[in-house]
Order: sequence, then structure tokens, then C-alpha cells
Amino acid sequence: MTDRFDASAAAPGSPVSGAPAGPTAADAAGARDVHAFIAGLPKAELHVHHVGSASPRIVAELAARHPDSKVPTDPEALADYFTFTDFAHFIDVYLSVVDLIRTPEDVRLLTYEVARDLARQQVRYAELTITPYSSTRRGIDELAFMDAIEDARKAAEAEFGTVLRWCFDIPGEAGLEAAEETTRLATDDRIRPEGLVSFGLGGPEIGVPRPQFKPYFDRAIAAGLRSVPHAGETTGPQTVWDALTHLRAERIGHGTSSAQDEKLLAHLAEHRIPLEVCPTSNIATRAVRTLDEHPIKEFVRAGVLVTINSDDPPMFGTDLDNEYAVAARLLDLDERGLAALAKNAVDASFLDEAGKTRIRADIDAYTTDRLAP
Ligand SMILES: [Zn+2]
Repeated sequence: MTDRFDASAAAPGSPVSGAPAGPTAADAAGARDVHAFIAGLPKAELHVHHVGSASPRIVAELAARHPDSKVPTDPEALADYFTFTDFAHFIDVYLSVVDLIRTPEDVRLLTYEVARDLARQQVRYAELTITPYSSTRRGIDELAFMDAIEDARKAAEAEFGTVLRWCFDIPGEAGLEAAEETTRLATDDRIRPEGLVSFGLGGPEIGVPRPQFKPYFDRAIAAGLRSVPHAGETTGPQTVWDALTHLRAERIGHGTSSAQDEKLLAHLAEHRIPLEVCPTSNIATRAVRTLDEHPIKEFVRAGVLVTINSDDPPMFGTDLDNEYAVAARLLDLDERGLAALAKNAVDASFLDEAGKTRIRADIDAYTTDRLAP
């Protein structure tokens, strides 16, 4: 969600920065190999937002359906429109995409096309974070909304082989009314979609204490949903503790500031609570100053289960493949290390055991095949 950003703290330029200067020819060849390996690697994506995944191609299609919007429909103009400049710009883009999602058919198109983009990156399984409140408060019928995402989910699995599951998240900045509405949509058996597996909390952390959401998480957990709040992205480690204690988090969205608290790192490692790390997003939002200063190394060193994710990829000028490339550089990973990282996401997912076994086997088969002499 956009509102967690402080637009005045805009960081101009590409969010992908911090590469060492003066790569040698061997480095370049190695990087090419790693990129090619990543492109074919079967993957799971656990932290990616629905509207935040709308690529210029998808936005062009939506804009063509609503000619009265100010969003360009020409793909080249859109590519410019999407080029990351600063947060004010990011928020403009995000809100203009929200404004294009007006009907259940728009919701279906967005969801199905996001799955196509994931499938192209060999994402076999994705938990897509959806904020249903944004659509229902804009007048989209709730049952039609659920039908639209479910229809897209089934089509994507049949046609692309990508399994989608949903995380419904509370937009924290919208207050307790939004929390109540999101909880109702996520727990009422007559409304909640079959693909729903988890319950989240996004939006700003500053001024939005986690403990107030406890009653809503209690109801979602009682209804069988898993708890995956954002925490410790723009505030300190206490927010992560709050997410663990009050919201019974089973995974943490970002959790970046956990690195400041050795006890917390030990707790996350001991209880196998994974972090959903989104490196480029952390730079774009200034949660971390540069990629080289990203605490991912500390997480791994402390034995925390780290997963790599993309958050709002087209809007941050990234995609999941690029996030794996960033992680490979920061953690100095070869192909086997990348395969292990991909398996972390499978392990940390809420997919059933049979599904997990299948993707792990795909990762092993791919890696063995690629590394064969
Ligand atoms: Zn997020």
C-alpha cells in the first residue's frame, strides 16, 4: 500500500543501486549465468500486492476500458509514466491504477494478467495480497469481487500452471472500520473465497500500532486463516514483537528492523518465523539506505528463514527475478544457493504438503539439469 510512504523522503533515481563499481568481464559473464539460471528457476512468491503488481501492459488494457481516465493507453507512453522517479510519482501511479479498477471484470483482468506475469517468471505458487476494502468501499459488489478473483485464480492455474492463493489485508491507515470490513469479508463463509489462506495488515506503521488489530486477527485465526502482518518495515523491532505477541504472526512482512534486536533474531530463528524480504522495495521506501546495507546478511547469519519477494514490482522497477539477482549478489550465492533460497519460500508458504513437494522436486530437477556437465 502506498500510504506507508513519506513523499517528502523521495529517493530519486533507480531503486536498484549499490552495485560494486567496475565489474570485470568475468563478473559480467557470471552475472549473465546467474540471471539465466534465475529466469528458469521454479519459484514461490509470498509477498506481492495485487494492485501493486499491475504492469504497464496491464494498466494499458485497463486504461483502454476506461477512456475517460487520464492514464495513457499507448504502451510506450505508459512505460515512461511508470519509470520510477520518486514517491510522489509512485503514489500517483498507484492511485491512478486503483482508479482504473471499477468493475468486477477489471478485477478479473488484473488478477489473471498478474498471474500471467508471474508464470512468465516461473512462479509456480503465489500468495497475492489483496485489499478488498479498497474495492468494496468504491462500490464493487463484494460477491462479484470474490467471483472475479476466484475465476481468475482457476483460469490461471489451468492455463499457466501457476497456483494462486489470497491474503486479505487490512489497510492500516483506513482505521478500525476497514479492519472490521476486511475481517467480515475474510471470515463470513457466505463471502470468503476458496483461495483465501491468510490475513494481513499493511499501510503505514508509524502512528498505527499493531496491538489494536488483535481482535480482528483473533477472529481471522479462529476462522482458519494464517497471520502475516507487515511489521518492522518503517518502525523498529518492537513492532515485530507486537506482531508476534498480539497478532500471532506466522510470517513477517519485511521485518527489516529485526536486525537491530539480537533477541528478536534468535526468537525468529528458533520459532522458524520466516521474513518476507523485498530488497528493492526497502530501498525505494527508504527503509534501508542502500542495497549493500540491507540486513539480509544478518538475517541469514542469525539462522532466520529468509524468503525473497517483490512487493509492488512494476512500480519499483523490479520483478521477482531481479530480487533473486539482488539476493545472489548480497549473499554471494551460486546456483545451489539460489535453489535453496527458492525452497525457503516453498517451505514458508501455506501451500499443502503435496504441492510443496511438487515444487521442491521441480527446483531440484531444474538445478540438477542446469548444473549437469
Ligand atoms: Zn507489502
